[in-house]
Amino acid sequence: MAVPNEGVLAAGFLTEVVNICKSAFAYWVLHSNNAKAVFVTQEFTTTGNFEFSAEAIAQAARLNRLLSMEIEFSLRCNFRCPYCYAPREDRLRDELTPEEIRAAVLQAKALGAVKIIVLGGEPSIYPHTPELIRFMRTNGLTVEMFTNGSGVTDDLAEMLYAQQVRVVLKMNTFDEALQNRLSGHAQAYRIIQSALSRLKAAGYPSSDHFLAVSSIICRQNIAELPRLWQWLREQNIAPYFEIITPQANARLNEWLYVAPPELESLFRAIADLDHRLFGKTWKIQPPLIGNKCMRHHFSCLVTARGEVQPCVGVTLSLGNIRRRPLADILAGSQVLQDLKNHRQTIKGPCAACNRASECYGCRGAAFQITGDYLASDPLCWRNYRPDQPLRCRVVAPADSPPGVR
Ligand code: SF4
Ligand code: SF4
Repeated sequence: MAVPNEGVLAAGFLTEVVNICKSAFAYWVLHSNNAKAVFVTQEFTTTGNFEFSAEAIAQAARLNRLLSMEIEFSLRCNFRCPYCYAPREDRLRDELTPEEIRAAVLQAKALGAVKIIVLGGEPSIYPHTPELIRFMRTNGLTVEMFTNGSGVTDDLAEMLYAQQVRVVLKMNTFDEALQNRLSGHAQAYRIIQSALSRLKAAGYPSSDHFLAVSSIICRQNIAELPRLWQWLREQNIAPYFEIITPQANARLNEWLYVAPPELESLFRAIADLDHRLFGKTWKIQPPLIGNKCMRHHFSCLVTARGEVQPCVGVTLSLGNIRRRPLADILAGSQVLQDLKNHRQTIKGPCAACNRASECYGCRGAAFQITGDYLASDPLCWRNYRPDQPLRCRVVAPADSPPGVR
């Protein structure tokens, strides 16, 4: 597919987005405060594209059980990333207590979860993170933590290493000024590089100490992403590169957006690079480079206020763990049933796509843009129609005041 030059594409896409967003009922929002979910590069997989076997995933889906769960300890964060969903601090209220977090974790474990993914806000500056990590590890759970690096002191890096926490560090670029802009913090680049150094000094990465770098794909960093990918591979750091899911505060930051044809070019370029230089072969599909996200079959999110959602991008509350047991919430959710039965329920081009058995795009993007979590992913290049502008819809957040998410 021919790709227009960047300026033309960016201008056209920007105009398209701006026109859409002029509507009071339409805006873009970006998700990825903390990236998301179970991104597992394909070399770590067993029979499927996750760290769990296809059989385990199918069984978990059938029995309304879990293999993993994401949880937000707190939405408090010191960065102000323009693509983030974390609210201003004065909007934070009524967040889960450490006791409630522990209870939620135990409920997930009772439902079969073997892995807890810690999101935020910024977990490394949340004061109860070390004790909660120890609690989860004592209960035999694998822990993965997304972090901007702010609280990664030498002591915390050593504790994470000792507890074998899988660490996913957010880093979008080698460019200091751009990183600071993309983090909304004047010292972000220095903080991230310092955290990386401390994690390396503690022993990351190694065969049993997983370290990844999470990057969003935006117009400002897209040209350097193949080089960043190669550098990470050479460092034995797993790259988690993702399309920005339209969500939350970034709805006013359309300057970040990349049009689907350009995304396809990037995915193809990195697939070629990964094959040529590292012998890794994978098919391209949104929203993750070299990965997949079909986590709704075996996972869920518990937000900082106890709402249970399918994931960070599908901001539909399925219930609140303060009022109902997690098992009841999951078993009674038609949304989750629809997502688990995606071959029967997904609509439009995604339903007929030859990748449909292994892909349903980003459900968060579909939901945020169309209001329908079963719609085809509008950000997939296979669905992209330049003559059919993307329709964006305001989607009520699960548990935040209006205008926050
Ligand atoms: S479906 Fe999209 S928003 Fe949801 S966890 Fe996956 S990548 Fe994130
Ligand atoms: S059309 Fe849908 S199923 Fe096919 S690759 Fe794109 S997102 Fe995946």
